[in-house]
Amino acid sequence: MVLDFFRSLADPLSIYKSIDGRLSVSDRPYKIAKTREDGEKDLLMLALEDEKEAAFIFSEDSGIWYNFRRGGGPVGEYGSQGVDIPINIDLSIFGERLTSYHTHPLKTTIRDTNAKLNSHALTPSQKYAKESGDHSVLHWFQSIVPSIEDADVDITLLGSNLGCYLDFRIVSGFGRTDAAFVPGRLHGHETVIRRYSRAHMEVRAMLEEAYMGRRQKYDGDLERFRTDTVNTINSSMKGMLNTSITLYHDLFASPGL
Ligand SMILES: [Zn+2]
Repeated sequence: MVLDFFRSLADPLSIYKSIDGRLSVSDRPYKIAKTREDGEKDLLMLALEDEKEAAFIFSEDSGIWYNFRRGGGPVGEYGSQGVDIPINIDLSIFGERLTSYHTHPLKTTIRDTNAKLNSHALTPSQKYAKESGDHSVLHWFQSIVPSIEDADVDITLLGSNLGCYLDFRIVSGFGRTDAAFVPGRLHGHETVIRRYSRAHMEVRAMLEEAYMGRRQKYDGDLERFRTDTVNTINSSMKGMLNTSITLYHDLFASPGL
């Protein structure tokens, strides 16, 4: 144990044991060599089947996935536990072009939604979901929209790693949300977080407005929800952040699959 500790000081990568197989949820450091596409397929399986959030750093330079999960994080805005990752770390040990990944597990999203719908203070979209029995728009929101906690962690990681290229991807049961902050436009952690909190609130308002009165609801229309979400976030962030969302039903719904 002591020897391991001193080895890790000499080479911080030595704590990552090299293994084969699928990416899996674990609190221990390990690494797997596989392409970005294959790793993302593993993450989709985890998002669909595992109840815990997975977190990885993918190195574009070496094609290696590093397990970044170090336990469950604090309970977030939706009521479920997030993921704990090392945030004040020099990521250059992994390479120069990196992506920080985490999953939003579907089972957790469904459980959080059910718990929320049992409370008395419901927003228009929640009220509609409860009455119609169709919870999908609430599942989409929690799955594909980065939370304020997500943005906070991203900005912290970026702040201590200005020397490398780092972007962020969330894999959920519905799709992949990509977020790339524009380093030259990031003026102060608090400012960016405040701006993202407002962007997040604007997406929430966009959703709620669709369920007020006689407006067009998002019933079944994940495409439109995705487009409206991306446009709202990007315009609200005014050049500080580029977000895109790739829906899995675009990727997998092609003829023959
Ligand atoms: Zn998240």
